[in-house]
Amino acid sequence: MVADVVIVGCGGAGSAAAAELARRGRTVVAFDAFGRGHDRGSSHGTERIFRAAYTDEAYAVMALDSFDGWRQLERETNTRLLSLVGSLDTGFARELADISTNLTTCGLPHELMDAAEAERRFPYFRFEHPVLWQPNSGTVHADGALAAFQRVATTHGADLRFDEPVISIDVRADGVRVTSASGVVDAGSVIVTAGAWADRLLSGMLVLPELIVTDEQVFFFRPRAEYPWPTFITRTIPELYGLPTPGGLMKVGEHYTGLRVDPDVRQGPCVEAGKRVSAWVAEIAPGLDPTPVNAVTCLYASFPDEDFIIDRVGDVVVGVGLGGHGFKFLPEIGRRLADLAEGQAWRGNPFSIDRESRHVGPSGHK
Ligand SMILES: Cc1cc2nc3c(=O)[nH]c(=O)nc-3n(C[C@H](O)[C@H](O)[C@H](O)COP(=O)(O)OP(=O)(O)OC[C@H]3O[C@@H](n4cnc5c(N)ncnc54)[C@H](O)[C@@H]3O)c2cc1C
Repeated sequence: MVADVVIVGCGGAGSAAAAELARRGRTVVAFDAFGRGHDRGSSHGTERIFRAAYTDEAYAVMALDSFDGWRQLERETNTRLLSLVGSLDTGFARELADISTNLTTCGLPHELMDAAEAERRFPYFRFEHPVLWQPNSGTVHADGALAAFQRVATTHGADLRFDEPVISIDVRADGVRVTSASGVVDAGSVIVTAGAWADRLLSGMLVLPELIVTDEQVFFFRPRAEYPWPTFITRTIPELYGLPTPGGLMKVGEHYTGLRVDPDVRQGPCVEAGKRVSAWVAEIAPGLDPTPVNAVTCLYASFPDEDFIIDRVGDVVVGVGLGGHGFKFLPEIGRRLADLAEGQAWRGNPFSIDRESRHVGPSGHK
């Protein structure tokens, strides 16, 4: 079989790239090792935070560019994916100042306020540090977004194959040969968006920084009353974040404290993490009952600096290392991966394989 592009890994990044290439009229075959909507990787569940409030300008700009992509996907599939409930950042003053600069560059409204003013406006939180409010942030519906990207891809003729792991990728003189259990597909280029499993497929083909896979947990808390909950991030070490979910529960988790794991050998829920997050919630969010009613695990696959790699080497395109903050950018990541697969250069690419690390702040990207 022959295709223009083969995609390996049909989670968030692979599905977004499949949708974009299929929209452009390319023939696409996309494989995933597990079933449609599975919960073994990084893209399952209800909601993710959508925000441009980044200390790093490259991400702020990419989030701004993704906004139109989410709205386009909503229109194409007649689904509501974004909820602009606003976001609160609190913690290191230097980071709030950098975020404010980048939001100003992007032309996005925001307000910096002291802790007392923030508690007056958001009385279901307690703050120790200044607070930055950004009203155009919110949440994106994760399961709905994946289904929407996949629907657009198949509507435009992409061949999505689930429960079919790719066994090998062979780089040839005139493209690539991708082998799965059902046979081979020859293509002009391959996009590897295999998340936590990517290094297994790419080793021997490319030299990447070490891919760190951690099993992260989120907990769901019941509000004591129906407040208009925004998303929040405490810019401390570790970071704590939270976001409202459609069922009315707040999803709260620590950023990047999970155990390192083999993605095929998960260790299950961590009782200690649950106790820590409960204690945080009791301290900083009195509007929530601090006893979690549910917990979910999910993989981060990150490089040491928490920056993405979105690049092309020969006929192999890589979209890996999206870690704990990649979902919000998926329309733009899909567009960039599609450009690279078509052979278009990305001048000044901030996510190239040989990029310099730009992560200077004490807390992580979220
Ligand atoms: C707890 C948690 C909270 C998060 N919160 C946010 C947030 O608030 N905001 C935000 O923007 N982002 C957030 N993220 C990050 C975001 O969800 C991820 O960055 C993103 O989903 C990663 O997508 P991916 O496509 O790279 O990986 P995945 O979704 O894991 O996709 C990789 C796919 O590759 C497949 N695969 C692997 N090997 C093969 C093979 N050999 N053959 C075929 N298929 C293969 C896998 O089955 C998998 O489906 C969070 C992540 C987690 C875990």
